[in-house]
Amino acid sequence: MTDVRGIGMTSQRTRLRLIERLKADGIGDERVLQAMTDTPRHLFVDEALAHRAYEDTALPIGFNQTLSRPYIVARMTELVLQHGAPNRILELGTGSGYQTAILSNLVGEIYSVERIKPLLDKARARLRQLRIRNVRCKHGDGFEGWAEFAPFDVILSAAAPESVPEILLSQLAPGGILLLPVGGDSQKLVLVRSTPDGFEETVIEDVLFVPMRGGVQR
Ligand code: SAH
Repeated sequence: MTDVRGIGMTSQRTRLRLIERLKADGIGDERVLQAMTDTPRHLFVDEALAHRAYEDTALPIGFNQTLSRPYIVARMTELVLQHGAPNRILELGTGSGYQTAILSNLVGEIYSVERIKPLLDKARARLRQLRIRNVRCKHGDGFEGWAEFAPFDVILSAAAPESVPEILLSQLAPGGILLLPVGGDSQKLVLVRSTPDGFEETVIEDVLFVPMRGGVQR
């Protein structure tokens, strides 16, 4: 049984080293750094990889997918919080559930969609183990958003479409933001804000995410 508190498996020192590294890389929001300190990343990967969980690196989670590197999780979370105190968030690409767990500390309600069923099942089990209760997950295609619970203050994607999907824009609340990687071989992290005058797009930085794929996988 893996220790929920992460004692033994990964020392407190190893974890704090990651936090120092994130600070050095420009993550300044204390709320984000605290959430990253408190969330046991090693529980979101297979036990064989747990010893690498506090390195600033992406890690495989099976099905050709990866848990994003801590820096990008922190950066995206920081951008979400800069936008205010979002109540309702839609996350596309639950994956391991790690980004979901980080967000659950900081925002009201999270709706999270994953297209690969076995990944979603594992993520759900982890969130339950950590007693995270403000998350609702669904096996589905993120390209469709989640109309039932729209509009969202924030929509955040961990998978990259070739261009910004119109449907997602239509599920944003007034003033809401869509934060997502866009592109194929060369991707940019893009923030789209819904304003009274239309959608305003800001390019944040170069990134590398897995592609967003349509349909679902059982
Ligand atoms: N936030 C995740 C990152 C997982 S990688 C984590 O912290 O672990 C991105 C995930 O997006 C993968 O699990 C992939 O299956 C999923 N994905 C890709 N296209 C999708 C789509 N159309 N709808 C929902 N999820 C999708």
